[in-house]
Amino acid sequence: MTKIQMVTPLVEMDGDEMTRILWKMIKEELLLPYIDLKTEYYDLGLEHRNETDDQVTIDSAEATKKYGVAVKCATITPNAARMTEYHLKEMWKSPNGTIRAILDGTVFRTPIIVKGIEPCVKNWEKPITLARHAYGDVYKNAEIKIPGAGTAELVFTAEDGTVTKELIHTFKGAGILQGIHNTNASISSFAHACFQYALDTKQDLWFATKDTISKKYDHTFKDIFQEIYDAEYAKQFATEGIEYFYTLIDDAVARVMKAKGGFIWACKNYDGDVMSDMVSSAFGSLAMMTSVLVSPSGVYEYEAAHGTVQRHYYKHLQGEETSTNSVATIFAWTGALKKRGELDKIEELVTFAEKLEQATLKTIESGKMTKDLALITSLKDVTVLNSEDFIKAIRATYEDMNV
Ligand code: NAP
Ligand code: MG
Repeated sequence: MTKIQMVTPLVEMDGDEMTRILWKMIKEELLLPYIDLKTEYYDLGLEHRNETDDQVTIDSAEATKKYGVAVKCATITPNAARMTEYHLKEMWKSPNGTIRAILDGTVFRTPIIVKGIEPCVKNWEKPITLARHAYGDVYKNAEIKIPGAGTAELVFTAEDGTVTKELIHTFKGAGILQGIHNTNASISSFAHACFQYALDTKQDLWFATKDTISKKYDHTFKDIFQEIYDAEYAKQFATEGIEYFYTLIDDAVARVMKAKGGFIWACKNYDGDVMSDMVSSAFGSLAMMTSVLVSPSGVYEYEAAHGTVQRHYYKHLQGEETSTNSVATIFAWTGALKKRGELDKIEELVTFAEKLEQATLKTIESGKMTKDLALITSLKDVTVLNSEDFIKAIRATYEDMNV
């Protein structure tokens, strides 16, 4: 059998712990036998990040800018415990944060839907993709606890010295204060990423804030989205037969619960934080959630939404069997391969990625799955497989589909 040829390399970002183990298995069992896999490899495992003073993370993001498509394994974000565990020189920043800052991207999270793992919301038939703005608001706030009576004001001093003031509140007693901000540049790139991803995936785009209450802050989000849409995307949306609409956040929540799915829901930072956890757990499992970072310049980085599954890794290190779900990591690879295939016009690569996704879902639907899914499935006669056997079962399904 001749292997599928690639033209442009994928940027491959290896990672940590259990997902690093799965990464290797996926490549060996599901990719290398079928594709003449071309990647530019960056080892984002914590040890190598430490050795390179985290330069490897920056290099991998720069390579993503150059080639356009990356696939990333989950990585450890260091904390105090990791400092001692890995003898780190510094508490290196979250690789995802570093990459996002360089690519200026928006993260889209989509559940993988499979028969037998039913969403809690029974009318959800298709995935709901959540797009979360990843800059500002309460995540970059300034806060004060006020001990007693006094006056609080918002003060802005322009570069030329002009001062604008707004009374916040005249306190009669103790209280709390918070200052938040965002920038037009960040909101614009969020809007572009959302419109582009909607076109790319041919899905409607919903956006919601609380502009009736926040007449300047939230209203600016609404206005920027609308201006960009009217000027640059309305025609393309009409051509593709998809829709953009803005509504109030409370109306959006009510509509989401009644919807069938199959759309993108763009959220401000805090709304996205809260709603993505709600939507993902209502769809079934964190291990069945994919994530793609899309930059306003049209660069893509695919990954699983979950972490490095540390608890399973420690079991693995002790020689115990693990049953870790590799579906989201497989879909990160297939997402990246599909995109690479589309950009380079390699139809075989796109077809391969789609078939591998189908084989993965078929395997689960036939009752073969990892433990996390076995615990929540509505299917009867389930076979629980270990990490490696699950990947091998997917290969067998794939081979069967090709006979
Ligand atoms: P996690 O790796 O997502 O795992 C949390 C728990 O969720 C696991 O212990 C497991 O539950 C379950 N789980 C998650 N993914 C699973 C899978 N594929 N198959 C089966 N079960 C799965 O989160 P964490 O333990 O909080 O974080 C571990 C490390 O990951 C941290 O160092 C963190 O910094 C990093 N992290 C990285 C990313 C990223 O790179 N995108 C994202 C989040 C976290 P049971 O133990 O009950 O089986
Ligand atoms: Mg959260």
